[in-house]
Amino acid sequence: NRGEIALRIQRACREMGIKTVVVHSEADAEAKYVKLADESVCIGPAASAASYLNVPAIISAAEVTDAEAIHPGYGFLSENADFAARVDQSGFVFIGPRAETIRLMGDKVSAKNAMKKAGVPVVPGVDSALPEEPKEIIKIARDIGYPVIIKASGGGGGRGMRVVHTEAALLNAVNTTRSEAQAAFNNPMIYMEKFLERPRHVEIQVIADKHKNALYLGDRDCSMQRRHQKVIEEAPAPLVNQRARVRTGERCADACRKIGYEGAGTFEFLYEDGEFYFIEMNTRVQVEHPVTELITGVDIVEEQIRVAAGERLKYRQKDIEIRGHAIECRINAEDPFSFAPSPGRITAYHPPGGPGIRVDSHIYQGYLVPPYYDSMLGKVIAYGDTRDQAIRRMRIALSEMVVEGIKTNLPLHQELLADTRVVRGGVSIHYLERKLADQATERAERESRSEE
Ligand code: ADP
Repeated sequence: NRGEIALRIQRACREMGIKTVVVHSEADAEAKYVKLADESVCIGPAASAASYLNVPAIISAAEVTDAEAIHPGYGFLSENADFAARVDQSGFVFIGPRAETIRLMGDKVSAKNAMKKAGVPVVPGVDSALPEEPKEIIKIARDIGYPVIIKASGGGGGRGMRVVHTEAALLNAVNTTRSEAQAAFNNPMIYMEKFLERPRHVEIQVIADKHKNALYLGDRDCSMQRRHQKVIEEAPAPLVNQRARVRTGERCADACRKIGYEGAGTFEFLYEDGEFYFIEMNTRVQVEHPVTELITGVDIVEEQIRVAAGERLKYRQKDIEIRGHAIECRINAEDPFSFAPSPGRITAYHPPGGPGIRVDSHIYQGYLVPPYYDSMLGKVIAYGDTRDQAIRRMRIALSEMVVEGIKTNLPLHQELLADTRVVRGGVSIHYLERKLADQATERAERESRSEE
């Protein structure tokens, strides 16, 4: 992998006395973690299809450097079951769950079914692929009740979904989603579930070893999203029903034992009116894992590596105590309001610091942000004894942070951390997009008034 997560994994390895080999594209040759690695191998040109997604090149890099294990980070090949199988067949350890588990969870219909069987609450709907017959589709939608959402079973990254409010729009939506699913994911299978109108996104972190021990490490709220991409995350999720939280956490750990899950993972839920509804599982470390590390004291990356080596989890559920509150802002190289990517040379960089502040980032003054990859520059994470203290520390951190030469979304974060609804906590997944849409309307009105 690349970017901040490559550095994060490298730090865990160094702390554990494990030597690291970094693979990188030509565009990332100057990266900080390439310089810090014990060894590095260039696996191809800038385009990720020729480098970070180039399975044979990655396997040969592991062979020539005599590596023992491969950590896939997030994104790229991290949830690719074929890659995990190839790593294993080539005699290396894949740091993550078994290939068959990744395959099971990568298909949303089979994941939903597996979770339902394991006792995890799921979004109401039919837990099998939609039939072809229009009459049957109409009946399924009536049974669920409008609005419904049509989703691609093989979908991901917020793509392959369509909300339907009326029967008149149903069949058209089904057909479009089906052909999109075929084109984008090479899998025409689609399914239907209830569309929840104002849910929050609350997820539960789990970690499991190869000896059937599994724990949940509390929850995170990631409702602050734009185009299904998370912008701010916090842990624990504020204003969540305590009984539902514990019950759901226990069910997740149970499900891990039932399916023989190995490694770190996240159960993603929609949370509405005090209830959790499973939507999907991520079978890898997530961008937002630091907020959980700060409130539990567990080093998630270290545990991933330890369990991949066959060791037992260091903790039992009763050892996991949630203390304080943590918030994370994802800092992106983009225009804060148009969201256009802003790659280029960083001419000045001053990271924030002080009590309770953690910065996970690979950038430095003089670093050239390449235009080829995800725009995330890193994460600022603030910890406090209370949510209020974490928010105050985050505001200070954002005000101290300087990134010059490129545009970043720091102004957006500053605005959100000053928003009374955000400060109160518990906004729905639609909050940010509605706020941005309102602001765009206001701007347009102001401009037309000034023209008059
Ligand atoms: P992906 O794998 O593409 O991320 P998810 O199944 O995790 O897809 O859904 C992504 C986002 O879409 C969710 O975080 C939520 O914002 C929205 N969403 C998905 N399913 C529903 C639903 N049943 N009701 C309302 N919103 C939904």
